[in-house]
Amino acid sequence: MTASADVPAIEIQGLRKSYGSNEVLKGVDFRVGSGEVVCVVGPSGSGKSTLLRCVNRLEDADDGQILVEGIDIRDPETDLDRVRARIGMVFQQFNLFPHLTVLENLMLAQRTVLRRGAAEAKKVALENLERVGLSVKADQHPAKLSGGQQQRVAIARALSMNPDMMLFDEPTSALDPELVGDVLAVMKSLAAEGMTMMVVTHEMGFAREVADKLVFMDGGVVVEEGIPSEVLARPQSERARAFFARVH
Ligand code: ADP
Ligand code: MG
Repeated sequence: MTASADVPAIEIQGLRKSYGSNEVLKGVDFRVGSGEVVCVVGPSGSGKSTLLRCVNRLEDADDGQILVEGIDIRDPETDLDRVRARIGMVFQQFNLFPHLTVLENLMLAQRTVLRRGAAEAKKVALENLERVGLSVKADQHPAKLSGGQQQRVAIARALSMNPDMMLFDEPTSALDPELVGDVLAVMKSLAAEGMTMMVVTHEMGFAREVADKLVFMDGGVVVEEGIPSEVLARPQSERARAFFARVH
């Protein structure tokens, strides 16, 4: 399963998802091309996390089509583990293992999921710690690190699995303001390297500067999408205008 330029990384059509009687996604079409950075913004409760979680079936959709690198992930025949291994995920909460060192956190899934030997897993882990500027923290435990450093470790851990794409769900929302910049800088360098990224965020500056496409969601639908600078300068809907006025 190799990503090629003409197969989108993520292609979603008509996605519907309800929790009980609460319809959270009401027919969402969404696309991330290979090598693209797409930022998803919108008010709390608009369905952003649910959309992201449907991509690798952390949530089961009720209707619609979800293709990841052309593979239908709602098809019961699909080898979900194999698709999931292509997708790195980073959440608001870093979910590092507190009893393991940074290096051990980065090696664990490489060993258990990818069955890499210890030497290779360590080499890959150290390369990715270098990538996020935290080589010196390899032998520390997560609790000794700042929130921003922990999030960069979480990013390095995801990268250590050599994913084809990275999904971020509000990666800087839990951080003190002075720590946000370092995490965004790492994400920016990833984008510059050509990583395919779907980023749910409230960081409009990041979206404007780094994203190829900005998607504004409200009430379980995509209300507007386009080139970030254009969407931000000329929102077509009252809902988007009101939202951008609040988060700017
Ligand atoms: P956002 O990420 O845009 O804030 P979410 O996708 O988290 O939005 O949530 C959209 C709606 O779905 C909210 O009304 C939320 O309460 C509801 N919701 C999300 N997850 C669950 C769940 N596991 N069970 C029930 N309701 C949920
Ligand atoms: Mg959310």
